[in-house]
Amino acid sequence: MRAQPQASHYVGGQYVESTNGADLVSLYPATCEVIAHLKAADDQVLASAIATAKAGQKIWAATSLAERGRVLRKAAEILRRDNRDLSVLETLDTGKPLQETLVADAASGADCLEYFGNLAPTLTGEYIDLGGSFAYTKREPLGVCVGIGAWNYPIQIACWKAAPALACGNAMVFKPSEVTPLTALKLAEALSEAGLPDGVFNVIQGFGDLGAKLVSHPDIAKVSLTGSVQTGQKVAALAGESLTKTTLELGGKSPLIIFEDADIENAVSAAINANFYSTGQICSNGTRVFVHKDIRDAFLARLAKRTQAAVLGDPLDEATHIGPLVSKPQFDKVLSYMELGQNEGARLVCGGGEARVAGLEGGYFVEPTVFAEVRDEMRIAREEIFGPVMCVLDFTGEEDVIARANDTEFGLAAGVFTKDIQRGHRVIDQLEAGTCWLNTYNLTPVEMPFGGHKKSGIGRENGHAAIDHYSQIKSVYVEMNGVEAAF
Ligand code: NDP
Repeated sequence: MRAQPQASHYVGGQYVESTNGADLVSLYPATCEVIAHLKAADDQVLASAIATAKAGQKIWAATSLAERGRVLRKAAEILRRDNRDLSVLETLDTGKPLQETLVADAASGADCLEYFGNLAPTLTGEYIDLGGSFAYTKREPLGVCVGIGAWNYPIQIACWKAAPALACGNAMVFKPSEVTPLTALKLAEALSEAGLPDGVFNVIQGFGDLGAKLVSHPDIAKVSLTGSVQTGQKVAALAGESLTKTTLELGGKSPLIIFEDADIENAVSAAINANFYSTGQICSNGTRVFVHKDIRDAFLARLAKRTQAAVLGDPLDEATHIGPLVSKPQFDKVLSYMELGQNEGARLVCGGGEARVAGLEGGYFVEPTVFAEVRDEMRIAREEIFGPVMCVLDFTGEEDVIARANDTEFGLAAGVFTKDIQRGHRVIDQLEAGTCWLNTYNLTPVEMPFGGHKKSGIGRENGHAAIDHYSQIKSVYVEMNGVEAAF
């Protein structure tokens, strides 16, 4: 097995194996070859991860802000040093093309570690003059945080959770998706090499039941989940029982609105990035592409031509643009939506089914697919597919398209293409979405807070905003005079 880790879990600064855990297998989605055989954490591994995190957190919280920052920045350097190996591992685990993983996965994780490493020394309190007396605030860690990841950006998600948590002096127990367990272990190794005290960042493998056990553990101060709305609802309900703090990064069905004055070539590029990058497995994807009727035909013609030129193939070949979907359940789900779109009466512009890649016949490849003449009420336009399926919808009026764009339970992201800057900002102001792009799509630099409105989530990752979700303020009033009382 070409990606077998030393052991399944990383606890207390070392690899550990569970004796009683269920089998957990990682497949290379391009061939279905088993690349690693792991075991889910049993109760003993779970207990030791929480115990070591509690002990490690005390040491880490007492470490100076400057030193915390140095450790995170060193870990960023290590991810950059090892970027190629990490990218190959991420490609094997997820099936995403190496062309992407080389620039978007460990690389963005490194940016995140560096950013929060730089922010760490600034996480001080404030002095508040009360006219004689005064108050000050301290920014304190929460304690042991749980991170639970989805399978589409495994190491990036682990970094987006670990970096702000650790900058604030917390410890973390991270559970990757059972489908992509491998690269979070490498992050744990990198953090140890960078000098993080043992127990401050731990990775334990398992299925949804382990996630639920972690969330309901009495020693947990916070949980941050990236996953579906359904899992988010379960996690929020469990966390609510003990009022454990939550950050939820959930699904979406985001609108991308292209007005008649847009640069068509740029708009087509954005629609491609918003639907086919990572084989469409991105939460913020702009899967409802509203195109003004005046430019619809020109837009669709360019889109079809460019989509048909995409190279599907071996993800390890750097010329490949589109790899397979991550798993058989995801493959079956996406194919069923491709069929549903045709049954619902949408016009298939290109793609629409399974793709055959010579030499990789067992892989979960599907064609990048564009449906036109999609109507708002169709299920392909309402439900998150999480695959390369773009729905193109027509519009003419600005108010009408805003109302239609907002007519969804989700609110993760949105995009607008127009050369009219007043219209651009006016429309963005009215869109119910946590992250918006004007004249581009799907760029998520670490400096910019990321998260959802409505059912797409609670809280924010990245940017200064993330700090508020991994720390708590203590206010201290200092009396400099006597104390008066009524009696
Ligand atoms: P899931 O919701 O199925 O799983 C997410 C994680 O939660 C996995 O680690 C899963 O474990 C775990 N889990 C499952 N059940 C429970 C439970 N009851 N309690 C605690 N943890 C549980 O999502 P996917 O992994 O299928 O990822 C796809 C989804 O994630 C999409 O909806 C997508 O939009 C969303 N997503 C959101 C992002 C954002 O930032 N907003 C970014 C990326 C994805 P296991 O895998 O072992 O079942």
